[in-house]
Amino acid sequence: MKSKFTLNHSSSSSNVQIKSDRNKNFSRKFKLSTKGTGFIFVVGGVMSGIGKGTTTASIGKILQSRGFKVTAVKIDPYINVDAGTMNPIEHGEVFVTDDGDETDQDIGNYERFLDQDITTDNYMTTGRVYETVIHKERNLDYGGKCVEVVPHIPEEVIRRIEKVARRGYDFVLIEVGGTVGEYQNILFLEAARMMKIKHPGDVLFVLVSYLPIPAKIGEMKTKPTQYAARTLNSAGIQPDFIICRSEKPLDKPRKQKISIFCNIQPEDVISAPDADSIYEIPVNFEKDKIGERILNKFGLKCGKKDLKDYKKLNQTVKRVKRQVTIGIIGKYFATGKFVLSDAYISVIEAVKHACWGHKRKPEILWLNSEEYEQDKKKLNELKKLDGIIIPGGFGSRGVKGKILVIQYARKNNVPYLGLCYGMQLATVEFARNVCGMRGAHTTEIESDTKYPVIHVMPDQEKKLLARDYGGTMRLGAWPCVLKKGTKSSKAYGQRKIEERHRHRYELNNKYRERLEKKGLNIAGTSPDGKLVEIIELPKHKFFVGVQFHPEFKSRPLRPHPLFREFVKAAIS
Ligand code: GLN
Repeated sequence: MKSKFTLNHSSSSSNVQIKSDRNKNFSRKFKLSTKGTGFIFVVGGVMSGIGKGTTTASIGKILQSRGFKVTAVKIDPYINVDAGTMNPIEHGEVFVTDDGDETDQDIGNYERFLDQDITTDNYMTTGRVYETVIHKERNLDYGGKCVEVVPHIPEEVIRRIEKVARRGYDFVLIEVGGTVGEYQNILFLEAARMMKIKHPGDVLFVLVSYLPIPAKIGEMKTKPTQYAARTLNSAGIQPDFIICRSEKPLDKPRKQKISIFCNIQPEDVISAPDADSIYEIPVNFEKDKIGERILNKFGLKCGKKDLKDYKKLNQTVKRVKRQVTIGIIGKYFATGKFVLSDAYISVIEAVKHACWGHKRKPEILWLNSEEYEQDKKKLNELKKLDGIIIPGGFGSRGVKGKILVIQYARKNNVPYLGLCYGMQLATVEFARNVCGMRGAHTTEIESDTKYPVIHVMPDQEKKLLARDYGGTMRLGAWPCVLKKGTKSSKAYGQRKIEERHRHRYELNNKYRERLEKKGLNIAGTSPDGKLVEIIELPKHKFFVGVQFHPEFKSRPLRPHPLFREFVKAAIS
């Protein structure tokens, strides 16, 4: 399985040299080809939700730590063109990229682990792929051919992956959503299989599987993994690695068993026990030498591994004892009788990054705002919180409760960070209870409110009337100018910032003066001054509402400035 680019690098003595050699080659010779890129497909077996995304991101981090240029692509098998139209309870968080795509939460993992802004090219869904193929067919791009599911759909998938590779990456990881054996990801597996024929020696397959330890039996079982490997085989794919997710580390006899039954070397069966923090995963994988083994399979010389940054972070996570309690008040939690925190994953990660940065242990409580509407006495439970966050949201459910929580935070000097809807509702609360605008509201909830302090932007209104919902919000990175002397400008340490948006409503300029007069500080606006992006209460310990989503830009080793200052206020 020697790669064609082996010769270029076999004489390289250090990882730094490997990287620069490769980059030179890209710009000189391979600009329009994918030559020199290794493709690693990550697919899931047995069940969903076992960490395919973090596995993909972790392998990326490992290769990056050895000096390679890496990126990751997510394939979602849904018909939805993007994740923007999906309920977070169905699909978890909608992650927004700088270039305004509404993507899967795994893109967030890639950004956090690879410390890289991922673009729309790195995300595809079944809907998106079909949309392109149909569009091309209508444009006669297939030159009169019969356009068929196979090969045209997998070919479009491959075209998209190769497009990413051409940006000059040494490795592109491709995570295939869903689980092997599902009807809906078959065409993506077909694309992966075809990719290996097209790029011999440059494609590897990683199967992420789950090994249950049934309580009554007490033994780790390998059979579901064996079936998963067989199912993958029947799609024409032999895994090169099997990542064994389980509660506990994998032992030798089970490694052997999986090796024999799944037809791979025991050294390529990687133990992936549950971890305290997701940032332990790359370090755990390296205990089984996955980096070295991947590079060997590509015929590449190994750069020196360097995960010092993550090791240090993990030590902090393990060592810190003093706690800080942050409440996230939302509504996208419940699925039947189970609690799901996926809908707010970037907010949760951003809180963790900030807490670890302050050497504190984060205790994050998910509180359902609807409960305060039913029983105001329940608000008493907020007393145990050091800080309160109201994250993004849509629609009327739980809004009354959120406004009560904001009032509590404002009156009791409890640090408050409002994210998008959390900023809009803080404006509503302030208008009602400080400015005396009784019944003030956002027109999202009450279209004929007497005081529409939050209202829909005119271009957005047109889209709503036309029922043109998909991908039409104010999306992606927008510049914002900060007012001198505010908490925000101190936090960022600069005057001009860029943050990611996803909303249709805005603070209504008609009420700006009235709100400001009563003490609401407009701490940030769009460069033309027309859109309010940040509100603050200067006399409060920390009361900041932002029209954007700073959580998307927080990184484990670089907490977001606003989250950092919010947590600082919560512990002081
Ligand atoms: N529902 C609000 C809007 O559309 C807020 C959206 C959000 O919180 N992301 O403007």
